[in-house]
Amino acid sequence: QWDRVKKRLRAELGEDVFTSWFARVDMEGHTNGTVRLSVPTRFLKQWIQSHYSERLMGLWKNECDDIHKIELTVRGAIRPRPASAKPAARPALGGKTADMRPIQVNDPVGLRATSPVPAMMGGRAGRSDLSSKDVLEGASLDPKYVFESFVEGESNVLALAAAKQVAGGGVVTFNPLYLHASVGLGKTHLMQAIANQARMAGRRVLYLTAEHFMYRFVAALQAQSAMSFKDTLRSIDLLLIDDMQFLHGKQVQQEFCHTLNALIDGARQVVVAADRAPAELESLDDRVRSRLAGGLVVNISEPDFQLRRAIIEDRMRAQQRSYPNFTVPEAVLDYVARNVTSSGRDLEGALNRLVAHNQLTNSPVTLEMAEITLRDLIRAAEPRRVKIEDIQRIVSKHYNVTKADLLSARRTRTIVRPRQIAMYLAKMMTPRSLPEIGRRFGNRDHTTVLHAVRKIEELSKADNGLAQELELLKRMLDA
Ligand code: ADP
Ligand code: MG
Repeated sequence: QWDRVKKRLRAELGEDVFTSWFARVDMEGHTNGTVRLSVPTRFLKQWIQSHYSERLMGLWKNECDDIHKIELTVRGAIRPRPASAKPAARPALGGKTADMRPIQVNDPVGLRATSPVPAMMGGRAGRSDLSSKDVLEGASLDPKYVFESFVEGESNVLALAAAKQVAGGGVVTFNPLYLHASVGLGKTHLMQAIANQARMAGRRVLYLTAEHFMYRFVAALQAQSAMSFKDTLRSIDLLLIDDMQFLHGKQVQQEFCHTLNALIDGARQVVVAADRAPAELESLDDRVRSRLAGGLVVNISEPDFQLRRAIIEDRMRAQQRSYPNFTVPEAVLDYVARNVTSSGRDLEGALNRLVAHNQLTNSPVTLEMAEITLRDLIRAAEPRRVKIEDIQRIVSKHYNVTKADLLSARRTRTIVRPRQIAMYLAKMMTPRSLPEIGRRFGNRDHTTVLHAVRKIEELSKADNGLAQELELLKRMLDA
């Protein structure tokens, strides 16, 4: 069973990450619904507990229904030092607090000095000393993540501009640049585009995920190499940390804070991406948080229809380079853009399915085919579909008008405004087109709907009360 769980973990996490954290985890036994696992260090125990306990639990439950607890223990004896490692001559990086100690165990991650530490640093196995070149290799960059393949839209225009400015490497104007957005909205794409461009220009660039940062920090403690991680970090021109929300642990955060300060004070650029704003990174040290918030903080918001449409079209073109006979009719592009609303990743996923279906069955992409092929994607992306009827019902109740009034031709002010609000909400919250909404509101013309949408948008910008009312109505509809 443990072998199967490990196999799954390896598949899910990838070889590098799996080896780093799980290669030295042993199964000790399994009684009364409790699985007992042992690890070589306390540090590893904490790391697995805080990062992987849910995933482990899920995988174990798959194997065996009645497992309800996973117990991690630290194996008693510390293995003797490998002969190659010298005793720690200098204090560990960053903090010198008492809880530094467990990390200073000779083999903190449970790896021998010759085991896959270098795998993450460019795949050179069997080396415990890191030359400066090794050290400069961060997580690998995907060559497809460049500015040219990033589609600009209203929701990311600022982030894109800031990223380009940073990549250009002129005067450091905002430091750090902090990008935040929910998953799939292009953070990693932008980060790597910056890294790729800066590297091409010959700058010393280090791109790391928070998890890599963490790992490198530990590896540096372990290797006690001539060039410490700290020195490395401070000798680069551009540091990019992706998925900052995963940077846990006091010592690591302290080290990160020192690095941040040193780089910023030395006018070196730092770029950070996370899934939330600095203020919402709860587990982060206050000083780090305020330093992060002190540069430029940019949000990437949900893509609007136009951007989604542009991304799919872009991806379709990219696919056409491999499959010249692959085409997606306009109506299908519209359909996907309207219905797959969550993220860039789902849009790509949707298009990949269309390609696969098209290539495998040799049948053209049609609206009908798209509806069937993408059914689950669309359902997953929109757990609850708001219906125009719901909107009409809630709005008329809230403003104390009848539904008949909403659909009527009456032009009294007390009815016009709620009607416009209802049309606005219908546009915002359902995938319906303007003509369709018009039809459902007493056979109005689509320009009337458009006018209503614009009007409410405009008013809500100026009128905070209205904006809050809209929020309230949206929440009632979402519930
Ligand atoms: P995040 O890191 O924010 O979770 P990613 O950068 O991994 O998101 O983006 C997910 C996928 O969507 C990537 O393949 C990316 O190329 C694509 N994507 C997201 N936004 C855009 C965009 N504006 N233009 C082109 N591709 C995008
Ligand atoms: Mg990402």
